[in-house]
Amino acid sequence: MTRGEKISEKLKAAWARRKAASGPKRCSKCGSEGPFYRRKSRPGGLSSHCQECIKKELDDYRKEHLGEVRKRGRARYHFDRKKFQGRLIAMRLEKKVEVLSYYGPDGRLQCSWEGCGVTDVDMLTIDHVGNDGGKARKAGESHGYMLYAKLANSGFPSGYQTLCMNHQVKKELVRKRMIREDGESARTGRRSTSGTLQLRPDSDR
Ligand SMILES: [Zn+2]
Ligand SMILES: [Zn+2]
Repeated sequence: MTRGEKISEKLKAAWARRKAASGPKRCSKCGSEGPFYRRKSRPGGLSSHCQECIKKELDDYRKEHLGEVRKRGRARYHFDRKKFQGRLIAMRLEKKVEVLSYYGPDGRLQCSWEGCGVTDVDMLTIDHVGNDGGKARKAGESHGYMLYAKLANSGFPSGYQTLCMNHQVKKELVRKRMIREDGESARTGRRSTSGTLQLRPDSDR
């Protein structure tokens, strides 16, 4: 055994004796028995304040120095923008998949239109079943990611379904056609069928 090893053995023994004499380790701030974070540099390898105290200290620091903390966070974001944005995009995609799966047929990530097999998440969107999407958007309802987050956070309310973009357009087309046919049949007393309906390019506005 070298001289250095002998000294460190002695020190270790002294620490062990002191530890045994003082009972279990206690937080030097609040006196609780932990749990403690690991701190290699501290005797015993643990921090002197307990986890609760350190959490509170960090929280207090954050509150007191909110401006600085935010500034540092922004600086870090700009420095590591690629990484942060990548994580953000992944998180948003995960949320979108979760919500669109919920509102898909039988909880699957798929278009709800009968017989449609589109499952590509890039081609799927959320649809207001009652056709009040435009009205809701005008009233300030969120769309895109914010809408997915809102639906997930409010416990998946009813009235929504997953549709592919083509069927979103098709649904709107059918809706307008029905309104027009209703108007026509009211005027002429004759009911036109969608098969014979002629669509003019400007008639949708
Ligand atoms: Zn403590
Ligand atoms: Zn579809």
